[in-house]
Amino acid sequence: MPAAGNLPVRVLFATPEAHPVIKTGGLGDVSGALPAALKKEGADVRVLLPAYGAVLAALPGARPVADLGGIAPFPDVRLLEAQLPGGVPLLLIDCPSLYGRPGGPYQDGHGHDWPDNPRRFGLLSKVAAVLADGHSPLPWQPQILHCNDWQTGLAPAYLHFGPGPRAKTVMAIHNLLFQGVYALGTAGLLGLPPESLGIEGVEYYGNLSFLKAGIHYADRIATVSPSYALEIQTEALGFGMHGLLRHRRRHLRGIVNGIDTEAWDPLTDPHIAQNYGPDALEKKAVNKRLLQRAMGLKEDAEIPLLGVICRLTLQKGIDLLLAAAPQLMKLPAQIAVLGSGEPQLQRLLAAFAGRHPAMVAARTQFDEPLSHLIEAGADIFLMPSRFEPCGLNQMYSQRYGTPPVVHATGGLKDTVTDCTPDTQAAGTATGFAFTAMTPAAFVAAVRRAIAALHDQEAWRRIQRAGMARDFSWAASARQYLDLYRSLLA
Ligand code: ADP
Repeated sequence: MPAAGNLPVRVLFATPEAHPVIKTGGLGDVSGALPAALKKEGADVRVLLPAYGAVLAALPGARPVADLGGIAPFPDVRLLEAQLPGGVPLLLIDCPSLYGRPGGPYQDGHGHDWPDNPRRFGLLSKVAAVLADGHSPLPWQPQILHCNDWQTGLAPAYLHFGPGPRAKTVMAIHNLLFQGVYALGTAGLLGLPPESLGIEGVEYYGNLSFLKAGIHYADRIATVSPSYALEIQTEALGFGMHGLLRHRRRHLRGIVNGIDTEAWDPLTDPHIAQNYGPDALEKKAVNKRLLQRAMGLKEDAEIPLLGVICRLTLQKGIDLLLAAAPQLMKLPAQIAVLGSGEPQLQRLLAAFAGRHPAMVAARTQFDEPLSHLIEAGADIFLMPSRFEPCGLNQMYSQRYGTPPVVHATGGLKDTVTDCTPDTQAAGTATGFAFTAMTPAAFVAAVRRAIAALHDQEAWRRIQRAGMARDFSWAASARQYLDLYRSLLA
């Protein structure tokens, strides 16, 4: 599809991670999938990523395409080119002194942030700005620079103070909790001009924030669901940025993420025991039995099985799950949890499961195949997140005929239709939502879900409505293209 005029819109997508080359969370999934979906919709998109050691190991064929020399005050860098699956060109920033080391993109092997992260992601932001400011050494010049999370937040600031002409900028927020806050003195190491250091700039409560810089200087701000776009303008979920976001609300847009509908398809999923579709939902029982066996739960076809997959953090409402678990068990229901994260929450979950081995199982590791089996084998999926910018598992679970129980927040609110007498009659209900973040409200929603589960006809309608939802990336990509076009008009 032609984008601007008859020519495809040229987009540079700057990100600190991109699946399948390097991923620590949801941003990696988005950066792997959205550029490919934009390309399918006709955009000319390139992804910009640091050449971490793990990235170079995964892409041995990457070849040099430009020498950027020294971009003061950063070391010399080269640009390498490779490709992501889906044929999206990938530009890698090769700077061994900042990126060439073992460990993760943000942390060392012991879970400590790299002390030079401001320089590492200052460089990512700076290179994005150099490629977008009309003086790029590449023959290809983007019209849009799409920045992702705090790691790229300084790019709109560098561009603002650059010589121009420049690309238009979009600052995408995937989770406002992570803001890239450092001492104001760091600005000297980043080559930020003195006039950027005030409140109308990168300054943030006496410090410097990469994300605040992006929100302040970008032409448009995007986040990953319409409800989250509203919530981050409130004190409760704005984490200190709400005033600025409210100020910029006319330029703020919420666009729900898609999911990988090939990797997450119960008809073809290789990780589950029995493939099934909306017309053969009785086959799901085979997956339930295998899940109970794999997790050491009592094998019982009748007892409702509740699945949970997430990072174990307060954001995901694991404390609420723990508080509600004794009542959930008495409904009765089994609970199968897969998640890693905060050691204290891991210990509490494992201890609870240890006391009730037939009813509760917890696996505290990262296990992609098991996550697919939980989506397929559970009867009901639980997502009591305190806040959720978009969330993926509630979409996977609807696609797998495993209706979710969700806290009505952010993307959960926007992607799950609560079962009420009206939505049930209309055939649009796909799950169960609760509003108060209390064990009582959570348990009440699970009770509603279990009551519906026991009415097979009603349950099949809810399952099929969820399975029929379009969660593909194409819809999101079209909305991003609209946003780009509004900037280029
Ligand atoms: P977030 O990005 O906040 O962690 P999302 O729901 O947006 O949450 O995405 C998390 C992704 O990571 C999902 O694909 C989820 O299934 C996956 N995931 C989280 N924890 C685990 C785990 N322990 N094992 C396997 N997959 C996991």
